[in-house]
Amino acid sequence: MEKNIQIFKNKVHSIERKHPWIFSGAIQSDTSEIYDGDTVSVYDSKNRFLARGHFQHATISVRILSFEDVPLDQSFFTAKIKNAFSVRMKQNLLRSDNNIFRLVHGEGDGLPGLIIDYYAGVAVIQCHSIGMYNSIPFLYESLIEVLGDNLQAIYSKSSDTLPERTEVENMYLHGDCATPHLAIEDGVKLNIDWVTGQKTGFFIDQRENRTLLGKYAKGKRVLNTFCYSGGFSLSALLNGAELVHSLDSSKKAIQLTDENIVLNKFSGKHESIVADAMNYMKDLKEDYDIIVLDPPAFAKHRNKRHQALQGYKRLNAHTIRQIKPGGIIFTFSCSQVVDKSLFTNTVIAASIEAGRNVRILEQLHQPADHPINAFHPEGEYLKGLVIQVD
Ligand code: SAH
Repeated sequence: MEKNIQIFKNKVHSIERKHPWIFSGAIQSDTSEIYDGDTVSVYDSKNRFLARGHFQHATISVRILSFEDVPLDQSFFTAKIKNAFSVRMKQNLLRSDNNIFRLVHGEGDGLPGLIIDYYAGVAVIQCHSIGMYNSIPFLYESLIEVLGDNLQAIYSKSSDTLPERTEVENMYLHGDCATPHLAIEDGVKLNIDWVTGQKTGFFIDQRENRTLLGKYAKGKRVLNTFCYSGGFSLSALLNGAELVHSLDSSKKAIQLTDENIVLNKFSGKHESIVADAMNYMKDLKEDYDIIVLDPPAFAKHRNKRHQALQGYKRLNAHTIRQIKPGGIIFTFSCSQVVDKSLFTNTVIAASIEAGRNVRILEQLHQPADHPINAFHPEGEYLKGLVIQVD
């Protein structure tokens, strides 16, 4: 049911600049009769229409889907999904050697609160707002229309991303598909399991960085920490690494890695390690030419940022201190609250602490299927550096 809300005069500016979030403190109206997931029309104090979006009783109270006075109906969602798919086709992401990509990246595709990942015929929907979850019937029709023969199944997985008060069951909405499901990323075969795996089953955002690692890997000894299902390891092996060790604290992740190593026939050159990466890096026993550090977000909120920076600094300092001269480190942060310059400064601080000379060779980021809405700079979350330690 559609309801109206009014915004404080001094809070209108952000909406006029097309920022897609409205925080609870900006709302002048009484919202006690507005329910989680309701569609709301947003007005200024002179009753001028500003936007339409999904409401939720949370710090971000409204996620804006349109700044125009149009209904959020089937044709609205189909147009957005069509546009998102056409952008991925421009990026040539559906090929014989690549059929994994992010089809919808929230605000970056004009659909705040929505992620859709695509794995060889299967669309996995993950909603981050109740309003978007309620819009699934529209998303379903849009996916069927837009993906056509490229769609085998739709899986809905929002149990981990919606507030606990919402009853959510993960399930197939269309077709079905046994997992793990075989898909391919830049020539690397991968078993994807969205049912039991983390997030939607795979970390698509590192595709280009994994491919880049391949270019450095020939004949090299590589340690891939925080490996999850082994994406970086496989790219290194496919490109001629001498040996690769993959490390993760999760046994399930290591099991996925091992399965992917067997799938790609690299067993002879690979070993897995179940361990805490921070402890392991504190006292590194082996000589590696290349080390990948891709930890989970150390800070999910601004109030944890300081602690997160200490974590990144420690992890990077341990690694920089111990890698052999000429060694290369691929180091990442996916914490949205730690921006590019803060992360770079943290790695520089770690280099000073480790007492080694460090050169920044490459500056890395999220790929084009994780687009950033220009009016929502918060959408830029993944950053990385390739550094050489002399
Ligand atoms: N690099 C991966 C994605 C990493 S996701 C890829 O390319 O797909 C982060 C991973 O870190 C998860 O698999 C999680 O299980 C693991 N992890 C979390 N805390 C850890 C810790 N303290 N030590 C080692 N691994 C950890």
